[in-house]
Amino acid sequence: MNHLFSPLLPRDPLMGPVLVLAAHPDDEVIGAGSMLAYHASRGHQVVVVHATDGAQGDPNNRESGDIRDVRRAEGIEALRRLGLAPARHWDLPDGQLPENLADLQQRIEEVMREVQPKTLYSFHAGEAHRDHRAVAKATAEAAHALPSDCRCLLYGVNFVPSGGTLFDTTDMYAKNYEALKAYVSQNAYIDLPGMSEHRERAATVNLDIGGVLYGEMFLDVLPAEIAHLHTMHEQLHRFVQRDPSLNDGAGQ
Ligand SMILES: [Zn+2]
Repeated sequence: MNHLFSPLLPRDPLMGPVLVLAAHPDDEVIGAGSMLAYHASRGHQVVVVHATDGAQGDPNNRESGDIRDVRRAEGIEALRRLGLAPARHWDLPDGQLPENLADLQQRIEEVMREVQPKTLYSFHAGEAHRDHRAVAKATAEAAHALPSDCRCLLYGVNFVPSGGTLFDTTDMYAKNYEALKAYVSQNAYIDLPGMSEHRERAATVNLDIGGVLYGEMFLDVLPAEIAHLHTMHEQLHRFVQRDPSLNDGAGQ
């Protein structure tokens, strides 16, 4: 990937179909919502998967109804605000994806073969949440099922992947902000729209280009490169965390 103005790249070469892998209903909008709105604006086919049922999203029992139903409805509304259809729900147990890794990998392989994406969004390996890291690992193991020229854009929810490709999202950011406001049950705990606005604004700190105010950053690789990148990234993560176990993190 040749960057025109490191690390900014144009969005135009990105093509559909688009496959988006998320662990919980909100991950994909926090990590890549503005880019998903861009794909919708271009009329690309976009398939979003929520791997878990989101059952751990209300630890203080603030919701009167079933948190799984609440989050599913919020997820549908958020994607509608981006211009997208509802996600597919695999309903694997929230917080338990590492224990369901073989099933997760098989499902990811199947949906990759079905959709044949030209653009993939999934987690990078440096995430903190164990479910996010499980999706990253399963994606790396399943990547052989992708078309060889698929652009794989690896996103972060807990940590923005630094040093990757940046896309200008200034024209789409308002839609992302409105979509994040749809997660009422999660915004009772943390200010997703506010924090995301700071993050996308800060992503352009290295740029001095008029009108580029917001951006989303991704590790930008091809299917044949994911497994190697994943191994290196896990090693880096293990080193900087001083944590040889690596497998039992927690977080949003
Ligand atoms: Zn998550």
